[in-house]
Amino acid sequence: MGEIWIPEATRLGDGNIAGSGAMDTPNNPPRAVWHTTEGSAGTESAFQGTADYLMSENYEPHILYDPRTDRLGQFGPLNKSAKALVNAGSVRTNRTGLVCIQIEVMAKAGTAFTSYWKPGPNFRALLRAIRSWGIPDDWPAGRLAQSYSDDSPRSLAVWLSRGGHYGHSNIPGNDHWDPGAIDRVALLAAGGAPTPPVTPTPSPAPRYRRPRAYRAIGV
Ligand SMILES: [Zn+2]
Repeated sequence: MGEIWIPEATRLGDGNIAGSGAMDTPNNPPRAVWHTTEGSAGTESAFQGTADYLMSENYEPHILYDPRTDRLGQFGPLNKSAKALVNAGSVRTNRTGLVCIQIEVMAKAGTAFTSYWKPGPNFRALLRAIRSWGIPDDWPAGRLAQSYSDDSPRSLAVWLSRGGHYGHSNIPGNDHWDPGAIDRVALLAAGGAPTPPVTPTPSPAPRYRRPRAYRAIGV
């Protein structure tokens, strides 16, 4: 089980994304989807204003992040769906996978936020939470859209079967091109080194043997 609420994040709204619910395909691999809000950033009023706007429009992601201030907010539990995607036919993209963690970064797709951002401890907390669900440091759909008119890969087969990180520009059934031409390697590197998977190491055979006399007591 991964992190459901990120302790470092401010709670936004009432802690329950209206209309969200359980994942449709919890046996499919976990994933994260990156968006940009296309609005202003860098101030407390912009943060609250963006949060209020997303709630009023019913587009809530799980996470709101300001790349200029490292401010982190959370609308709802990571193990339930968010609402920033549209469906791909009968596939409810918001509900695909064990988790589908959606992050709205307060930036514009036209200016890659990784070119000026200041990720700090809250960004590392976000990546820690994402990785806690087993989401690999990988971009299975391939490249992100580099411009509004760029036709980036949006394979339904990849979306259904592969865990990892996606841009909104990689999601089948959707036509947005956010988060723009961000540096995918820098994005994940800013989260710090991933915790290596725990691999059991065989323990050496014990050298100690109980003395015969002790064993005879029958403990
Ligand atoms: Zn988006």
